This record gives sequence, C-alpha cells and structure tokens, in this order.
Amino acid sequence: MIRKPIPVKEAVQLVMGKCNILKSESVKLEDAYGRVLAEPIVAKHDVPPFDRSAFDGYAIRAIDSTEASEIKPASFQVIGEIGAGQVGEEPIGEYEAYRIMTGAILPKHADAIVMLEDTMETNEGFIITKPFQENDNISFQGEDAKTGELLIEKGSVIHPGTIALLATFGYASVHVARYPVVSIVSTGTELLDVGDELVPGKIRNSNGPMLQGQLKRMDIPYKSYGMMEDDLDSCTELIEKALKKSDIVITTGGVSVGDYDYLPEIYKRIGAEVLFDKVMMRPGSVTTVAVVGDKFLFGLSGNPSACFTGFELFTRPAILKMMGNTSPFMPRMTAILGEDFSKKNPFTRFIRAIWRMEKGVPVVVPAGFNKSNAVSSIARGNCLIALPGGSEGYTKGMEVDVLLLGQELGVPTWEL
Ligand code: AMP
Ligand code: MG
Repeated sequence: MIRKPIPVKEAVQLVMGKCNILKSESVKLEDAYGRVLAEPIVAKHDVPPFDRSAFDGYAIRAIDSTEASEIKPASFQVIGEIGAGQVGEEPIGEYEAYRIMTGAILPKHADAIVMLEDTMETNEGFIITKPFQENDNISFQGEDAKTGELLIEKGSVIHPGTIALLATFGYASVHVARYPVVSIVSTGTELLDVGDELVPGKIRNSNGPMLQGQLKRMDIPYKSYGMMEDDLDSCTELIEKALKKSDIVITTGGVSVGDYDYLPEIYKRIGAEVLFDKVMMRPGSVTTVAVVGDKFLFGLSGNPSACFTGFELFTRPAILKMMGNTSPFMPRMTAILGEDFSKKNPFTRFIRAIWRMEKGVPVVVPAGFNKSNAVSSIARGNCLIALPGGSEGYTKGMEVDVLLLGQELGVPTWEL
C-alpha cells in the first residue's frame, strides 16, 4: 500500500489533538523541581506581608526632617534597634528614630528610612543634612504580590524561581502533573548491546540509549524493554505487554517498507489507530504515530538522526502536553546560515546543526555528515535547522529557523 505523506505541521497537530492531560498528584516542594504545575499559584497573602525597611539605616517620621540642611542639620535620638525578624515595641515620637535593618518591620509612626550612608553619628543618635519624604526607602506591603493575585498559570514548569514563590506562600507540597509512564523498545535483528563486540552485519543499539537520554533531559522516568529481533509474534507480544503498563511506548526501527519492518502489521494486530505513517520531512519521513485509547505508540525510524528528530518533533511535545505544559514545543529562533546548504528537497528538512554567537549575531552551521543514518552529527549538534521544503536550496547569509535543543549542549554562555 502506498503511504500518503502529510505536512509536518499537520502531523504534529494530529498528535497534539490526541493528548489527554494526565491526572495530577501532590509532591513535596523539595521534589517539585522540573514538574509541571497542576494548579495556578495565587498569592495567599501580600508580599511583602508588611511594610519594611529596604536598607540598613534609621526609621524616622519624615516630617521631622523637612527643615534639615547642611547649615541646620536635624538631630534624632535613637530609642532602640530593630533587626530583621524583630519588632520595635515603642511608637516613635518627634525627632526619635529606631536603628533598623533591611527587611525589618517599620515601627509605629515611622514613615521613612534614612540610609546609614546619609547620617552622621552623635552621642545620643545621629544627624541628617537633607530632608526625607514620606515612604522613602520603604518596601511596601503587597508591592510584589497582592492577596488573591494570579501569579503563575497552571501548566508552567517549576523552576528555582517558582520554588521560591511556592515557599513564600508556605506550599510544603504542590499539585503537579503525573509523569506519563514511558517505555522504550528497540527493534532490529542487527542490534547488539553496548557491551558487545562488533561482528559482521551487526551494529550496536544506539537509539535505545539515545532515547533514554532524551527522556532524561526532560526529567521523564522511563522503562527500557531492551532490544527485540525482527520477529512479528514476539515483537507484538512485547509491545502489547509494554503498552499495558505504559501511557507511551516508543519503538525504534521497523516502520519502513522493508520485508522485516513489522510495526505496521503490529499496529493492525493490536487494533491501534494509525494517525499517520508518512510525514513530509527529512529525516524521519516514515515516522509513524498510533493510538490505542489514551495511549500512544511512537514508531520512530531506526535511522539514528531520524529517530532523534522524530522524538523531538512529536514525542517530546506530546509528553509535555500530557503533563499540562502550556508551551510544549521546542524553543525557536532565527539565525544566519553560516555555509551554503544546496540540497533541494520537496520535504521539510531538519538539519542537526551548531549555533553560536558571532559578532553578536546567532550563526548556524550544519553539524557535519547529515544523512538520516548519521549519528556523529547528533552528537555535535546543539540545535536543528528547519528548512521548509520546496525551495531552491539555501545559501550562506540567509536567515533560517532554528529549533533549540537542551541547554547542556554548548549553548553560548554569557561572557563578562
Ligand atoms: P529500520 O527503521 O528498522 O528500517 O532501520 C533503519 C536503519 O537504522 C538500519 O540501518 C538499522 O540498522 C538502523 N537501526 C535500527 N535500529 C537501530 C538502533 N536501535 N540503533 C542504531 N541504529 C539502528
Ligand atoms: Mg529494522
């Protein structure tokens, strides 16, 4: 049967349309990093919760400083000290002040803070030589967040800043999306394990470990079902077994039209609905996605570059959407093509590539040998160049779309 290729965008939309958001669970704040918020963060109280000093200095009544000048300094008597976390018991009166530290609650009647640098010490206190206005150097109650304010939408990924906010409001635990259960099956009679010696006709399984890394990069746990020879019955059995225990089964290999490519037949046998089995993209045109109820089967190509790209384009956003993540797609930017890329293709091309800053501008170049069976360019790349199909090749200096991969991959750092 001839397969009908569909555009990449349509394929992604078909996958996203089938994603159901998984139930949430509660995790301790210390385990919340990297998870997706299943509840919005709404301010439970004002932040700061009280008016407080923004600096180390003195709390005064601004009115007592109105006349202060170089010629006629205003003199204050210090009646006590308030460190952060302490409370000044006495209200201040005329020309009285508290010595006060950053973050300390203002004493009664104080309405301005004089910074230590603006004072000169005297025996009973200090003098100032300029007037201060009401509210000078004060952090106001609620200036950061007001009770009831929606601060972070649900569906956001929890990063260290989110954790700080959750801690501020006393979330000892937080509702997050459950992880999908993801399984990996590598198919191919030619596959050897990583520890095996090479023998004629065989290659080591690199897709299985690569997919594990791609999932780890997303902080998603997985179960590996190892490698399977190209045998219809035993492959069907293993995939069915994995599917029973998983939300997502990722397979590599066996989705082409070769004699031993059994995945299409396996989908039939287990009654899976095939969303598509041909995509207008290179590499990975044979990428197949099927569903059984709520569960996904990602049939990625055995070719390493195709497998890698298929995961990033289809599996990754599906996982993120199932977790309620509201921005599931790869970060995208534009960059200047650093060398000619003349290969023409009717399909959208995703090229493993390296981007870096050159004279303040992002420049991107292909990461070497770039056929779908390439493995070296995956290792060198830190991004994918996305070139729409049908064009007349690309030349150095053109602006191209770049999809960014994980941040551990040599993304240029800020240089002082
Ligand atoms: P297939 O998709 O099964 O037709 O495989 C396409 C190509 O990818 C063949 O050259 C396979 O040997 C190779 N291949 C398949 N599975 C893997 C794997 N797990 N690791 C590395 N290469 C693979
Ligand atoms: Mg195969």
